[in-house]
Amino acid sequence: MSFDYDLFVIGGGSGGVRAARVAASEGAKVGLAEEDRMGGTCVIRGCVPKKLMVFASSYRDAMAEAQDYGWTVHAGSFEWSKFQTRLEGELDRLEGIYRKLLDNSGVTIHDARAEIADPHTVRLSTGETLKAKHILVATGGRPALPGIANDHLGITSNDIFHLPELPKRILIVGGGFIACEFACILNGMGVEVTQFYRGAQILRGFDDEARGLVSDMMCKKGVNLHLGTNIVEMCLEADLDENGMVPNTELLAGEVQGKAAPGKSGPIWVKASNGTTQVFDQVMFATGRNPNTEGLGLDNTAAELGRRGEVIVDDYSQTKQPSIFAIGDVTNRVNLTPVAIREGMAFVETVFKGNPTKVDHELIPSAVFTQPELGTVGMTEEKAREQEPIDVYATSFKPMQQSFIGREDRVLMKLVVSKETDRVLGCHIVAPAAGEMIQLAGIAVKMGATKAQFDQVCAVHPTMSEELVTMKTPVRSA
Ligand code: NDP
Repeated sequence: MSFDYDLFVIGGGSGGVRAARVAASEGAKVGLAEEDRMGGTCVIRGCVPKKLMVFASSYRDAMAEAQDYGWTVHAGSFEWSKFQTRLEGELDRLEGIYRKLLDNSGVTIHDARAEIADPHTVRLSTGETLKAKHILVATGGRPALPGIANDHLGITSNDIFHLPELPKRILIVGGGFIACEFACILNGMGVEVTQFYRGAQILRGFDDEARGLVSDMMCKKGVNLHLGTNIVEMCLEADLDENGMVPNTELLAGEVQGKAAPGKSGPIWVKASNGTTQVFDQVMFATGRNPNTEGLGLDNTAAELGRRGEVIVDDYSQTKQPSIFAIGDVTNRVNLTPVAIREGMAFVETVFKGNPTKVDHELIPSAVFTQPELGTVGMTEEKAREQEPIDVYATSFKPMQQSFIGREDRVLMKLVVSKETDRVLGCHIVAPAAGEMIQLAGIAVKMGATKAQFDQVCAVHPTMSEELVTMKTPVRSA
């Protein structure tokens, strides 16, 4: 069979772009299709714009602290449109860089949607049909709505960067990364934030002590967090009938499929599972993300999908169809940008360098950019306890910078240590810049450092993270 390409990549996000570039640099003839903007979720509607919003939102607090330190300053008001204009410029710049990198490495870009017609054929929305020896699916994921009547009235993290103006009052639904990060961001920007989370504590899966402190701090900083709470009903306030009842919910639910009447907007009335009713200018659903496999044509191949629509792959990111591989969020393994990039690199190593390479998904450090941030690597106390006897070293204290001006902020430094091997199984940090700290602690944990080796390292004084090398006695053992 003759092929147009050695590799055709579907999806121009972090994983797809990296795999395409590296494969091309190995001499492969590579094509890449992206139906939207180059850069994908991370660059265009995720990590990058989110982090810039984190920075923007941090100045109000910083300004108040500066006053207490003796500065004559005041925060004034936040000009969303000014920030947004700069943000759009930055995203254009980054998208341009991504395109240039692909061009320079000889990858042919197709600005089109691609569908898989058979194990070696992709059909583009431009009408072109192309043959490729290998196809790499790197189509990422998209926000999932909860499926309740009228949920189309809400927005998702995709929309938040494009709002013409910031709402005065927002309800954020969910308790994961995205919900908590945007609750803090918008709170910092002066929006009145209410957050509903259906479970007992936000950030499920993270260390209990750490998530407890993040939750406390979010509430102290002004987020109106309701645990064990979900939306029962919602509609436009203007659509409530004269008795204050939601009219014909079935009809409204039907509208969801039909994508509701355009132009309908306005304050949103919400009834919560705790019986209260409230009106918000916006409702944001951060209720998880689904892999982008709908209409991709994988059913024309032997590749299999999982329950949530994720592409099932083996340790080498290969599907049941030998010519088709998948990396990144579309495989719903560890949904983080640097992981997708590493999966892309391992794929190229395996397929184009003849060096079969499994992706290492162990001990991946990550951070939640709440205020304060949560940085984590390795096992939570709860998980480690199930596995083996452990010692827990933890300290929670008021950091010097905020304690000096009488603030109630607290931070947490925590190590979970194996009793048998003395190995640090997990490190959990809640503090400003915890994301930066956990990157470094992650090196030691990944290297298999023991608690004794942590303690051999001289403290950097005065810092918050020096506690990681000065905790002498376990606070508990289990
Ligand atoms: P998560 O899966 O982290 O969180 C989804 C949240 O929505 C959970 O709290 C879940 O509750 C709740 N939920 C799900 N369905 C419903 C429903 N029907 N009604 C009410 N609540 C519901 O997803 P996110 O969208 O926050 O993030 C997706 C992924 O993106 C993350 O897992 C992460 O890998 C990545 N990400 C990473 C970031 C980072 O590295 N800083 C930042 C942002 C995203 P429950 O817990 O009960 O299931």
